[in-house]
Amino acid sequence: MISMVSSEHTLKIMDPEIAALIDKELQRQQQHIELIASENFTSPAVIETVGSILTNKYAEGYPQKRYYGGCEFVDQIESLAIERAKQLFGCEHANVQPHSGSQANTAVYMACLKPHDKILTMSLEHGGHLTHGYAKNISGMLYDVTHYGVSENTGEIDYDQLESLAHEQHPKMITIGASAYSRTIDFERVGTIAKNCGALLMADIAHIAGLVATRLHPSPIPYADFVTTTTHKTLRGPRGGMIMCSQEWAKAIDSAVFPGTQGGPLMHVIAGKAVCFLEALKPEFKRYQQQIIANAKALCKGMQEQGFHIVSGTTDNHLFLVDLRPTLPEVSGKDAQIALEKANITLNKNTVPLETRSPFQASGIRIGTPAITTRGMKEKEMLQIANFIATILQNITDETLIAHIKQQVIEWCLNFPLPY
Ligand SMILES: *Cc1c(COP(=O)(O)O)cnc(C)c1O
Repeated sequence: MISMVSSEHTLKIMDPEIAALIDKELQRQQQHIELIASENFTSPAVIETVGSILTNKYAEGYPQKRYYGGCEFVDQIESLAIERAKQLFGCEHANVQPHSGSQANTAVYMACLKPHDKILTMSLEHGGHLTHGYAKNISGMLYDVTHYGVSENTGEIDYDQLESLAHEQHPKMITIGASAYSRTIDFERVGTIAKNCGALLMADIAHIAGLVATRLHPSPIPYADFVTTTTHKTLRGPRGGMIMCSQEWAKAIDSAVFPGTQGGPLMHVIAGKAVCFLEALKPEFKRYQQQIIANAKALCKGMQEQGFHIVSGTTDNHLFLVDLRPTLPEVSGKDAQIALEKANITLNKNTVPLETRSPFQASGIRIGTPAITTRGMKEKEMLQIANFIATILQNITDETLIAHIKQQVIEWCLNFPLPY
């Protein structure tokens, strides 16, 4: 497809400034160990699709019900994306148009809540997401929010607290799903709690979608009224969102997405989602998800062996949180993030249970394995990464040592090339 662009019209000629920055970003991606739990490297096929001429097409509406002409082929593309999503997750209805995970969540709220309705959600500091009722997000502005969280002793979701808050508050909706939570989520239990107190349930699987698609994490589909996800995290597709629900809610969800909260769908991205779902239906994809978990467990164990404290003690999925305080009380999450970045190791600071610092400093770091697993790294490499991280954090002011590790990281990354 790229070959359709004749050489004098390439980006390098048309806009050398942006072309050079893309080249630099590719080099950055190649030369860094990417541990941000929400990131991944999508396939060349998905990149090709997202970079295709489909971006030219307006297709407001849904297949066979569009407001524009010329939708013959994009109709087939969107229908394929929907059918594959249904097959992959075993849901009755899928809307593949949300531009992002946040757009998906907003559309679900629009479909069934009115301003000032009560929602019960996991707090951001305990691992939830901005779109789950954070004060500065539209969900926090429009709805009356109560938060549950993790038990401060175990670091696991406090289902008893969730249950008693549900019975006290009678929320219209409960949301479950997290951005920084390392344990298996008991969707069945939360489904029962929601049913017993007459609340709707939205499960947000943005992070764990790849694990759910391959059934390595229990699916919320049987228990939740709505399941939302992103397509670019463990699912490894293009940047985007999706909503799944039963037939009963199909119409309300579709109209909450369009015309409720969005205009024209991004057909190039929807095509990319279709390609991603096809990839995710293959047996290799399950092996990839198994390796993500095996790597997370190995890296987690490696960090423990280096003397670090893991929130909730272990991981069941693709990520874990390190509480730096017991080992290095003077090193904040922010300090750790900055020092590691200097050695080309990318991750993010994170608040931890019983946090004593501000969210901008934080006392923990979040470590995820989806991206490095895509590069082909295995358990053996996880021990090496734990070693790099521990050495840097224990010598956080030693610039010479950190510069030396950076060189090692760059050379090491050459063994795991990106497919671009
Ligand atoms: C990442 C994430 C989202 C939002 O995704 P965006 O595509 O960045 O809008 C929503 N919910 C959870 C739990 C997430 O982790």
